[in-house]
Amino acid sequence: MKGFVIEKFGTENLELKNLEPSGNGIRVKITHAAINPLDYNLINGKVVYGVSPMPHIAGSEVIGSAMEDGKEIKKGDRVMIYNRIFDSTCNQCISGNEHLCDNGGIWGVITNGGFQEIVSVPETNLLKIPEYITDVQAVSVPIAALTAYHALIRAKASPGEKVLYYGASGNTGILGMQIASIMGLEVYGVSESAIAKGYGAMEIFGRDSIPADFRADIVVNPLGASTFSSSMKHLKKMGRMITFGVLTGRNAEIDIAALYTAENSVIGSTGGTRKDLMSLLGIMKNHQIRIPVDSTFNFEDLPKALKRYEEKHSGRILLKY
Ligand SMILES: [Zn+2]
Repeated sequence: MKGFVIEKFGTENLELKNLEPSGNGIRVKITHAAINPLDYNLINGKVVYGVSPMPHIAGSEVIGSAMEDGKEIKKGDRVMIYNRIFDSTCNQCISGNEHLCDNGGIWGVITNGGFQEIVSVPETNLLKIPEYITDVQAVSVPIAALTAYHALIRAKASPGEKVLYYGASGNTGILGMQIASIMGLEVYGVSESAIAKGYGAMEIFGRDSIPADFRADIVVNPLGASTFSSSMKHLKKMGRMITFGVLTGRNAEIDIAALYTAENSVIGSTGGTRKDLMSLLGIMKNHQIRIPVDSTFNFEDLPKALKRYEEKHSGRILLKY
């Protein structure tokens, strides 16, 4: 079987090699992958986490077909990979926060990932994909949709509240706005791209055209430094600002006085729990979640897919194996 090996960071250094399958657990033949910031940054040496092993195989958002029986999973099942490695025994795990496992990390970052044809994964990291979820939907669930959903849970989002979503045309934005709308929130987006329209928002503002007096209960801002401080100005009193990304840098200044005098909160969020993932699949049973696809590349064309990711694109960039 083949896989894309990183010995030196950089898309141009990816090498497609013949490999022996490795890892413990159930073997899964990968059928689809999605390109997300985590993969892109990891391959290009910009990831905020430690990467192991080196040489490395990236790819954290994949689905596939089980090649053998487990306890629950049966050979031939369509499966998605819950991509947090966890030990089930530390304090975080037994408190239901396995995504924060003291001895864990992200599958595809602290282990090899799915930019290879066959992987072996512990059964606790596999979920059978329900029939009502298409392959294109399924491959966007484990990172993009789960991150967006968990962030709204962390923000204690309630029906009727107003949310302002930065990065509205991005992977999490398109999904997060739809999920927020399904959860009964009044959704507004911030994006320069027309693609952001039609995914649950009442209105999409340009970055410089948000009305100065616009206030939301929740501001979701995964963009990092460039808009961190300005986005907080759009919080109501007791508002919550939630972040889970650093695309434009990891250090920002905040107006501490404005923060405490309005009793605002800044909340971090990362990934989500297995329980969140299962709830999300339940939501998707009753509500259609639309996922725009920019382009689909063959597995062997991963470098082309990563180049496409660098360009202005609209929707998800997928790999088909
Ligand atoms: Zn743990």
